[in-house]
Amino acid sequence: MSDVQQLDHHIGGTTSAPAGGDYLESTNPATLAVNYQVARGTAPDVDAAVRSARDAFEDPRWRDLSQTRRGHLLRRLGDLVAENAEELARMETADNGKLLREMRGQLTTLPEYFHYYAGLADKIQGDVIPTSDRRVLNYTQREPLGVVGAITPWNSPLTLTTSKLAPALCAGNTVVVKPSEHTSATILRLAQLAVEAGFPPGTVNVVTGYGAEAGQALVDHPGLAKISFTGSTATGARIAAATASRFIGSTLELGGKSPNIVFADADVANAAMGVVAGIFAAAGQTCIAGSRVFAHRSVYDELLERVTDRARTIRIGDPLDDATELGPLAFADQRVKVDGYVQLGVSEGARVLTGGRQTDGGLGGYFYEPTVLVDVDNSMRVVREEIFGPVAAVMPFDTEDEVVALANDTEYGLAAGVWTSDLSRAHRMANRLDAGTVWVNTYRAMSPMSPRQGFGSSGVGVEHGQETIREYTRLKSVWINTSTEPLADPFTMRS
Ligand code: NAD
Repeated sequence: MSDVQQLDHHIGGTTSAPAGGDYLESTNPATLAVNYQVARGTAPDVDAAVRSARDAFEDPRWRDLSQTRRGHLLRRLGDLVAENAEELARMETADNGKLLREMRGQLTTLPEYFHYYAGLADKIQGDVIPTSDRRVLNYTQREPLGVVGAITPWNSPLTLTTSKLAPALCAGNTVVVKPSEHTSATILRLAQLAVEAGFPPGTVNVVTGYGAEAGQALVDHPGLAKISFTGSTATGARIAAATASRFIGSTLELGGKSPNIVFADADVANAAMGVVAGIFAAAGQTCIAGSRVFAHRSVYDELLERVTDRARTIRIGDPLDDATELGPLAFADQRVKVDGYVQLGVSEGARVLTGGRQTDGGLGGYFYEPTVLVDVDNSMRVVREEIFGPVAAVMPFDTEDEVVALANDTEYGLAAGVWTSDLSRAHRMANRLDAGTVWVNTYRAMSPMSPRQGFGSSGVGVEHGQETIREYTRLKSVWINTSTEPLADPFTMRS
């Protein structure tokens, strides 16, 4: 019998062993130590979780709770996340390999997501609509949808789950989360904190396990009112098809291949740091990674030199060490995929300027060197497809029109970076780029207050900000005839 801790599902406010009795291993990608045995969920577990969430949705303790009190619960949950920040940060570092200092940074803003939606909870309201007969009252109300299925990836589990959980609860829904099989621990802990915060049992449920088993069972469950998914475009497409055929809503946050564009008038030293942050932070395992770098031909050499110099000195190693700058890739197959893309690039004609090699980081883990590819163009798969690793493809350009065309020549449209000192150009580029988020002279800025949306294959729907409430509510129109007079003409029902 293994002495590794077993983690069960979280259903109805308490732990629940997997119906099939099986567990999967969750491993530390830096050291390959086994962290946990995680419940391997199957359809019966998902069914129990959805039923529990449905019961909670109809329970007067949740259904009749005032919106202000719903906000109080969210505020308390945010406070508890802050109080347990160090534990959560260390758990996620162990599961995912993220730098502990990156996680500590994330954990300082994570409570703000709950606090933001706490403040929004009692501002969800309908309107009174003018009618052509003043005796007739028409008003709208925003209602929660019911049970929301939230399916999340491994690259930033807490933040990406919170981006769904906080607005879904804010709007009065109940939730079943299926976290990534690689990173379930912090999400289970978050569900415990929700209980501690006072959320009634069943409002937050977590079923762990593989995508093809637990995830697919959740997608197929008829009890869901909506699915909110963050993950790959391929899985998103399956979910879009499944939800469309059942006429339920979906929010899809998918992949990216974001351009990071450096103009001749940019502060090149600053831009180089932005390029490094854009592609090498979190070992490139972010949907918003600035993986396509375009540099004006007049600054191309200087930018390349600065980026490669910095890439070569990036400290690879133990994610717990404050001096480390690059942790491991999150699991073995991810490294195989990243390396496969680099090899593919070389076979397509790309040149590896730096990096391009696997390393064990001195710890036996799944590390990969920060990599810069040149002699690449938009026809190559390394430039078109999402690699999701520390691999930048750097290309020169000559004119603004040319770089707009190159940047927009992609199926994705998640984010874009622009480096320039020309104010007019900054605004022009913000207008011309087909991306849901455009950063100028910065990269990665994000906040719970700022809505974000992926264009094209990067997704459907909005996360963060007030807009999100629309994604988690339905709009009802109510008509009340206040007149005591009989209807004049039953065949012309106008108001
Ligand atoms: P993935 O699609 O493999 O998995 C995401 C989640 O879906 C996991 O929980 C997985 O178990 C589940 N899943 C897999 N197959 C499923 C199925 N058939 N039915 C239901 N659920 C299923 O993605 P990943 O590798 O975990 O995450 C990386 C991807 O996520 C990248 O493409 C990245 O760009 C994207 N991402 C997007 C954003 C964004 O905001 N747009 C943010 C982070 C990550």
